[in-house]
Amino acid sequence: MATLRQLLTEAVPDLKPHSTTPFLDALLLASLAMGVPKERALADLPVELPGDIEHEFRRLLVQRASGTPAAYIRGVQEFYGYEFTVTPAVLIPRPETELLVERTLQLPGKRVLDLCCGSGCVGISVKLQQPWREVTCSDISPEALAVARDNACRLKAVVTVLESDLFNSIPGTFDIILTNPPYLTAEEMQCSRLISRGEPALALSAGEDGLEYIKRLIPKGFSQLAPDGYLMIENSDGQCEAVAELMAAAGFSEIEIIPDLAGLRRVVTGRRLEI
Ligand code: GLN
Repeated sequence: MATLRQLLTEAVPDLKPHSTTPFLDALLLASLAMGVPKERALADLPVELPGDIEHEFRRLLVQRASGTPAAYIRGVQEFYGYEFTVTPAVLIPRPETELLVERTLQLPGKRVLDLCCGSGCVGISVKLQQPWREVTCSDISPEALAVARDNACRLKAVVTVLESDLFNSIPGTFDIILTNPPYLTAEEMQCSRLISRGEPALALSAGEDGLEYIKRLIPKGFSQLAPDGYLMIENSDGQCEAVAELMAAAGFSEIEIIPDLAGLRRVVTGRRLEI
């Protein structure tokens, strides 16, 4: 029988090609196999694991070492301090996307739309932080919306969930429209590490330049904003200038490019000012 410490030490090199946090991933999988929180598993490093638990841990490691993210294996991912259910029907929430939540919390206006909501992590976090907001979460994928509904229900967030291809089936106007749409370029979609993660291409792939959906949503977003309302779009560092220009062309004012914690330009915001 091996101790948990020995098993983790052995596992780390196998996970390195697929993970920037191999020890944490191995620990999370061990705690899943043991049926205990990761803090408890850490305290149990010197303990020898029973054979059936070691077997289960090794089974989970094989999945992880083939590229499946720990979040899909565990079925959960933390975002803005809340635990969200995730399945391969939704993108795994990224820490940099918390920027959309942070900025929204500072803006005025009651009606908030989370367009392309996936797991619902952004809209639901906003609603949980500021229950006075009226939050709508929309997505084109019914499978993703089932996950968003499940998250809203488990986290007790009262949000409206709508199936819609961008704005096509969304009635009315909003004070804040935030979105983390698909924005990867055709070249970025070829990255083997990305492919092995098994995330839905529908949530990531956005044509040759990665701007396919952003180009469509900016003019429509302008027309579905209330006067003085804000549009906030997550994108990649290299796209920010183009997105800012598209917003200016659509009539937006007060355009701002906001960096994430890694110092990459990540979010572009604009305002529909009353003339
Ligand atoms: N930030 C994500 C990634 O790099 C992309 C998210 C998206 O396309 N909305 O994998």
